[in-house]
Amino acid sequence: MTISISEIFHSIQGESSFAGWPCAFVRLAGCGHGCRYCDTTYAEKPGTEMETDEIFEKIDEIGAQLVEITGGEPLLQKEVYPLMERLCDRKEKVLLETGGFLSVAKVDQRVHKIIDLKAPSSGVCNKNNPQNIELAMRSGKAEISSFEFKIVVADREDYLWARTMLTDTGLAEACTVMLGVVFGKLEPERLAQWILEDRIRVRMQLQLHKYIWPPEMRGV
Ligand code: SF4
Repeated sequence: MTISISEIFHSIQGESSFAGWPCAFVRLAGCGHGCRYCDTTYAEKPGTEMETDEIFEKIDEIGAQLVEITGGEPLLQKEVYPLMERLCDRKEKVLLETGGFLSVAKVDQRVHKIIDLKAPSSGVCNKNNPQNIELAMRSGKAEISSFEFKIVVADREDYLWARTMLTDTGLAEACTVMLGVVFGKLEPERLAQWILEDRIRVRMQLQLHKYIWPPEMRGV
């Protein structure tokens, strides 16, 4: 069983409630969703076919306590499901970062799921999979949920979309919702101001790795 891998690297987790922790990233190749602000378009290129044991070797070399499966869109490759199960069995803390177009229903329950909700300016807002919100709403209290959602906003329209969606669904009461800016498109201060004015229940985040390293740098 092989998985098409774009890159495996060691970095600082930059975009979730785990931001700041050293992490081994396994980036699977392939996506095709075409989000306007995609910053990993290189993951669209064909990857290197790797056996699960080879992937484990690389993760062991890195030696981080935290492992993140990302992409591209990692859920496009069915082999990713047993990979995540085996990682959880090895007692690693496993994060999954997914674009949110595919359901996470079959993902091992031990995996912490970071799911994008694409705002209008991404051009793919209509592809958000509603089942992921339903699953999160049924999953229990925010403090113990293995779900978290991530929204990046480029302008006021995106922010208002997020605010309405959160009001309509009650999602922020069921799990953590991270709200950030599209890097270089919206000043973080403006987003902070809107969040504080409206008193919405979200956690603001910046893409930490883009402040530590050059924003266009790969493998971080
Ligand atoms: S889902 Fe992620 S990897 Fe795929 S196009 Fe959108 S931002 Fe890029």
